[in-house]
Amino acid sequence: MSAFEIEGKTVKDLKKEYPLLHELIATKEIFWPNPKYELFQFEIRKTKLNEIDVKEAEERLKRFAPYIAKVFPETSKSNGIIESPIVKIPSMKQHLERVYDLQIPGGFLLKCDSHLPISGSIKARGGIYEVLKHAEKLLLEKKMLTMKDDYSIIDNEEYRNFLSQYSISVGSTGNLGLSIGIMSAKMGFSVTVHMSADAKKWKKDLLRSKGVTVIEYKEDYSQAVEEGRKHANSQPNCYFIDDENSSDLFLGYAVAASRLQNQLMDMNITVDEDHPLFVYLPCGVGGGPGGVAFGLKLTYQDNVHCFFAEPTHSPCMLLGLVTGLHDKVSVQDIGIDNLTAADGLAVGRASGFVGQTIEPFLSGCYTVSDDQMYKLLSAMIDSENIRLEPSALASVYGPIQLLKEKTGQEYIKQHHLVGKMKNATHIMWATGGSMVPKEVMEEYYKKGLEY
Ligand SMILES: *Cc1c(COP(=O)(O)O)cnc(C)c1O
Repeated sequence: MSAFEIEGKTVKDLKKEYPLLHELIATKEIFWPNPKYELFQFEIRKTKLNEIDVKEAEERLKRFAPYIAKVFPETSKSNGIIESPIVKIPSMKQHLERVYDLQIPGGFLLKCDSHLPISGSIKARGGIYEVLKHAEKLLLEKKMLTMKDDYSIIDNEEYRNFLSQYSISVGSTGNLGLSIGIMSAKMGFSVTVHMSADAKKWKKDLLRSKGVTVIEYKEDYSQAVEEGRKHANSQPNCYFIDDENSSDLFLGYAVAASRLQNQLMDMNITVDEDHPLFVYLPCGVGGGPGGVAFGLKLTYQDNVHCFFAEPTHSPCMLLGLVTGLHDKVSVQDIGIDNLTAADGLAVGRASGFVGQTIEPFLSGCYTVSDDQMYKLLSAMIDSENIRLEPSALASVYGPIQLLKEKTGQEYIKQHHLVGKMKNATHIMWATGGSMVPKEVMEEYYKKGLEY
């Protein structure tokens, strides 16, 4: 029998070509600076998406704001704009400095997408945006809406009845399903969420309580997406939200950047050549962190350094980038099990679209063990009283990896950042957590204390 091959190469060949795979397969924590990272101005011209696309997404969300404010009263304070707070976390910084025995120069901030209204995770950006975009298209075509209207008119039985003839379908490890399910059901769409084995029971229960059809699979995320895609294609009027390939999701996430820029200005935080910004983003299939990072590069160009964080057991984006194989290779192909407590990141095969788009803009990736995420989860509660889900804590490990690992130090030197680190701002992107039920959070907390 011939050996299993990936794009004409055996795992042995790949290991020889990319020695880093030995450590990846051994599920060691690693920090990988991206050798294909390039100056922004050279690369942005080659990219299909640009700031006009992001601006368009931002404008669309503004058009929908009166509707959102009406149907989700928790957003009325922000006039229907779905945005999260950003907070300083000095006690957590002190905790990390003590535990990991290092000095972290610069400011230390947590971007609380965990507390985004409606669905309590980063998916409230991309997921909700794509549902709104689809609804707008249908309503414009039917002439039930013009772009000049006050979109709060959509909150009406006639509109819900119209949209109920259409269905939406999505595959998810949990949070994308929550965002798309809640938003679609609110608008009247008939919606089906295909959930992978990792999806938490409370997420499925919550969706069912809102009238969403939940189909459960024993397999992982990639399989749930595949089944969802098949199911959607077999039905008329069904729109499939494709987490692996959607540029709409990506653009919905990218809008985060201009919002963040305003928040930093309000806090009198400077980002420029002498004040670098480091952003650490937990990565699953890639759309969320990829979209946010893309938006940030458009906003701050070479002054922002974006890093993706993945579990040691699900480093799909890192694997795709290191080998250049993107979605042609899965972590299972090289003998990694894709089993992690970080359900939002339990993805074995990254998005090829995101990997290729983000490749020249991403500073690097690092991996985090589940134990580490649990420990940080408990520490975040003890030091700052902020409750996050395990996935979100992968971000907090970023500055430690950057400063502790030799490859991280090299990145700092290579980009002439040594003298500027004291002026740096580190942003940990807390991607989810506020909707986790109390009992579940209590379990997480206890687990973190055990490590
Ligand atoms: C989905 C998710 C991510 C990662 O987003 P991707 O688009 O899958 O890369 C990170 N954290 C949480 C909590 C998530 O739900």
